[in-house]
Amino acid sequence: MSRPGKIVCVGRNYAAHAKELGHAVPEQPLLFLKPPSAVIGHGEAIVLPEASSRVEHEAEIGVVVGRTLRRASEVEARAAVAGITCANDVTARDLQKTDGQWTRAKGFDTFCPVGPRLVSIDPAGFDFGALEVACRVNGALRQHGRAAEMTFPIPMLLAYISGIMTLEPGDLVLTGTPEGVGALVAGDVVEVEVSGVGALRNPVVAG
Ligand code: ZN
Repeated sequence: MSRPGKIVCVGRNYAAHAKELGHAVPEQPLLFLKPPSAVIGHGEAIVLPEASSRVEHEAEIGVVVGRTLRRASEVEARAAVAGITCANDVTARDLQKTDGQWTRAKGFDTFCPVGPRLVSIDPAGFDFGALEVACRVNGALRQHGRAAEMTFPIPMLLAYISGIMTLEPGDLVLTGTPEGVGALVAGDVVEVEVSGVGALRNPVVAG
């Protein structure tokens, strides 16, 4: 997969995850960006930065945009989806709290594993709500969620984002993480699996 032009992420899109971090469910999608330079592929190492003592996994369904979307309706947004992939919104949780905004916590090199492949879909009849996402660390299940549990469903997210910034072909949207986020340490192997896509596996190494 080629590097996306931009990566738009959605925070607290599963109520149970918002709760585990002590937050209310947002009334509108809570957006942030990850830099394209953070992207790594299947099998590449997540490097723990020295600046953080608490790096966590966030298993997410990744949506790749297939055509330009600007102020799109949900119907238009749905039709513009090129495909689905697995993504890990790796987060330095301690820095997310101390910085007050999230650019550093979410933006380190290697903090956006994506893959192992992009699965094309026919968006017309596709049931986005049936997608499931899971995370395993060293083979043990840490997270599991269904897209049907999202506060803001995938077509609505794309339409909402397109009302703020133009979505362009190749842009990647990370749709939020279910409950169960937890720490990664050097030597771990973290896996994100999305139904119908397969598993994205990355080792974790010290920086
Ligand atoms: Zn996330």
